[in-house]
Amino acid sequence: MQGAPGPDSWEQRAASLQIAGLTPLSTVDWPGKLVATAFLQGCPWRCTYCHNSAILDVRLPGVVAWSTVTDLLRRRRGLLDGLVLSGGEPTRQAGVVAAAREVKEAGFLVGLHTAGAYPARLPDLLPYVDWVGLDIKAPAHLYRAITRAGGDTTTADKAFESLRLVLDSAVDVQVRTTVDPTVLTDADVADLGAALADLGVRDHVLQQVRPDGATDEYAQALARVPRERLHRG
Ligand code: SF4
Repeated sequence: MQGAPGPDSWEQRAASLQIAGLTPLSTVDWPGKLVATAFLQGCPWRCTYCHNSAILDVRLPGVVAWSTVTDLLRRRRGLLDGLVLSGGEPTRQAGVVAAAREVKEAGFLVGLHTAGAYPARLPDLLPYVDWVGLDIKAPAHLYRAITRAGGDTTTADKAFESLRLVLDSAVDVQVRTTVDPTVLTDADVADLGAALADLGVRDHVLQQVRPDGATDEYAQALARVPRERLHRG
């Protein structure tokens, strides 16, 4: 990000967000909180199991105005604890910093779902964030097999750099791993858990992969995995 915007441009930056969808009330997107969730358009990665494939294209415009999100928060003050910025990959868009700032200054909590694809955004963004749900998808050497983007370690480098930044920031974080049994063995999952603990992660959750929303190709690959190898998170 090119430094902090001047006071007059914060609103414009938030208004520039491409937002693909808005869930007005969620009890699951931030454990223990009642939130609205905004799904920001676009992601540079193409994970095997992604169930948001319809919102990955960065060229598509948003379909929900930022003012719709802030109007919802205003109407639901006292009911909602906060807003979760999800995606897609919400850190892709520069306007996410101004959006988080606006929500925080309005007195709501701000949650962030990210896979850590843009660590350079985090120093500007994390001061306005109260909780992060961070996807760490695999041990570094297996990252590309899941994200299907970047070089051998590029996506892993970005994700683990984001993890370091979040841990250093002391923002509350839950690290999540969706266990892709077409890539990860039980030993890989155990290795990852140990590596994360060594890095200082105290809350690591394993999630079961779901075929709904994924490509037909992936659903078929998943169907060939023996039942005993499916993680049941
Ligand atoms: S990082 Fe998330 S949104 Fe992007 S492709 Fe992977 S699962 Fe989908």
